[in-house]
Amino acid sequence: MSKHFSKHYQNEWHPNIWPPFTQIKKNKPQIEVTHGKDALIYTKNPVQELIDGISSWWVTLHGHSNEYIAHSIAEQAQKLEQIIFADFLHPQAKELSERITRITKLDRVFFSDNGSTAIEVALKIAYQWWQNQGEERYQIIAFDGAYHGDTFGAMALGERNIFNANFERLMFPVKRAQWPSTWINDDKVENKEEMAIDSLIELLKKPTAAVILEPIIQGAGGMNMVRPEFVKKVAEVVKQNNSLLIADEVLTGFGRTGSLFAFQKADIKPDIIALSKGLTGGFLPMGLTVSKEKIFQSFISDAPEKTFWHGHSFTANPLGCAAANASLDLLEKEPSKFLDFEKRHLSLLSILNNLPNTKKFRICGTICAFELEAGGGAGYMNNIGKEVKANAIEEGLFIRPLGNVIYLMPPLCITDNQLLRSYNVIEKVLNKYI
Ligand SMILES: *Cc1c(COP(=O)(O)O)cnc(C)c1O
Repeated sequence: MSKHFSKHYQNEWHPNIWPPFTQIKKNKPQIEVTHGKDALIYTKNPVQELIDGISSWWVTLHGHSNEYIAHSIAEQAQKLEQIIFADFLHPQAKELSERITRITKLDRVFFSDNGSTAIEVALKIAYQWWQNQGEERYQIIAFDGAYHGDTFGAMALGERNIFNANFERLMFPVKRAQWPSTWINDDKVENKEEMAIDSLIELLKKPTAAVILEPIIQGAGGMNMVRPEFVKKVAEVVKQNNSLLIADEVLTGFGRTGSLFAFQKADIKPDIIALSKGLTGGFLPMGLTVSKEKIFQSFISDAPEKTFWHGHSFTANPLGCAAANASLDLLEKEPSKFLDFEKRHLSLLSILNNLPNTKKFRICGTICAFELEAGGGAGYMNNIGKEVKANAIEEGLFIRPLGNVIYLMPPLCITDNQLLRSYNVIEKVLNKYI
């Protein structure tokens, strides 16, 4: 079966495109898409209808080409497409910042372009905050298995692995606490959590500028979930040590975990949160870093070094803000779509968890993940995921396993039939490996 993947694909790729996260020698070329509607993607060559089982890299929230969001963007494009945000305010940014602070109960919104920039901004704010107060705190703590983005700061926060090994010498040091991944029927969870908290407490003995985590779900690390109780405990410990807590909600925000935000599910109040991905409903790139007022206040000064010297060309782009406001409208109109999604996964779980080669099922909100036991070791470099992906596509389902971790994270609009079909396709594909 691995014969298929020893083929050399380079010449089948477009000669002018450098694709993301891809070795073109070893991977089939991109599939050309003509259009998308709701949970479906339409391809040419072959002409095929695919269920988008992972919301196009976790961004498509309400579905492809959602008419309401498309309309809001089109309308905004005819009023104001872009404006320099250091000097001008516009209604969409005003509305979005008011809404985001209302629903997060945080106070100040800094706009940027994507998840990585939202993280860079969070980190710079947290790091500078201590200096603004004249306190020396330089240690940053993240978790094993973390992923926070691909720019240098975000990359340094993430787990060190093959994706960033070439840049090891350019990355600043980050301390790592344990991440007590859990799953359904995990009888060791409490023990793991205790050890993880101990590891965090140990690291916090050194004055720490910030602790950053992906609340409840580590996405790119392999859909590794922890219990909300653990996140709450982390927040308590961080607070006791007077450090700052940054919640990277780039993936988990906007209903993905079944709450509007994962930090709410964990019943905590981070000092700073980073948002992107589903923020605009997946229509346009935009990132937000939202902080408490006390943090913002420390940047107000006559001393130039206390200014937050950071900004991006497209800061608070009006089209992105219009998309985000429209997406929030949809979330507010039908909260049951994210509140009740978990039940839909649970009702279908037996299709997969009775297969002898599946294990470690975890479900949270719109996400269902598990591991395929098929030899070749755990981790992203396990080729089994690629084979499962290719087979699923043939059956009309687009998924992109993380190594041997297979998961579904569909858009909220997926119909019951499409969701059932997704489970059935995975079942059919996995049956080949028994
Ligand atoms: C995707 C992701 C990022 C990076 O976002 P980009 O928009 O891809 O730069 C950061 N943190 C988490 C948790 C993510 O899932």
